[in-house]
Amino acid sequence: MLKENLMRVEEDIQHACTKAGRDRAEVTLIAVSKTKPVEMLQEIYAEGIRVFGENKVQELCDKMDVMPQDIKWHMIGHLQRNKVKYIVGRVALIHSVDTYRLAEEINIQAKKKNIIMPILVEVNIAEEATKFGTSAEDARLLVEEISQLENVAIKGLMTIAPNVADPEENRAYFRGIRQLSKEIEKAQMKNVSMEILSMGMTGDYRVAIEEGATMVRVGTGIFGERNYHTT
Ligand SMILES: *Cc1c(COP(=O)(O)O)cnc(C)c1O
Repeated sequence: MLKENLMRVEEDIQHACTKAGRDRAEVTLIAVSKTKPVEMLQEIYAEGIRVFGENKVQELCDKMDVMPQDIKWHMIGHLQRNKVKYIVGRVALIHSVDTYRLAEEINIQAKKKNIIMPILVEVNIAEEATKFGTSAEDARLLVEEISQLENVAIKGLMTIAPNVADPEENRAYFRGIRQLSKEIEKAQMKNVSMEILSMGMTGDYRVAIEEGATMVRVGTGIFGERNYHTT
């Protein structure tokens, strides 16, 4: 069953790329496995998936410990400073940096491990009160501040668009984020590249790809609905 889901998602990605005149290789599919049991992760690992996204540090570390070593793990959820030490150097990318203080802690932990930690700056493009992320207005200043930290490398922007019935409603937001990333890129700050645009989830990844996403984070479309109430 997961195999069929995955094939459908893959087809959609290919279709969106073709429609936008983009190469499929420009888009990384992140399988968002939060709340799902390891058996399900193993099932799609067997289908060739090597990039997984999780939103909680404890769950991420537990799964990392039992899954194969060649997986690239992405931290996509809100991150508390006291948990940074558990993931720096272990995850491929942190998508959810929205304050200087968080970046500073990532920098401290990365320095200890003598690595440079790749991160994305999370932008709350629709300015929803319920979501984390810096405003589009403040993003550039935040990127500039974080760029001073030597053991952190900004690789682009991430956004979580509103939960809408018609994904077309989010097109303007995706376009706005892309525009913002182009503006930041023009400033040519050191330690900053805008090569990654992490945007698009199950409901809207096709539109996000058409608007330039280089990473899409798909959970439900691969693993099915999440049930937060069973234990
Ligand atoms: C859960 C989650 C996703 C995946 O959402 P789906 O709608 O299930 O595809 C993507 N990004 C973030 C940050 C998430 O927390």
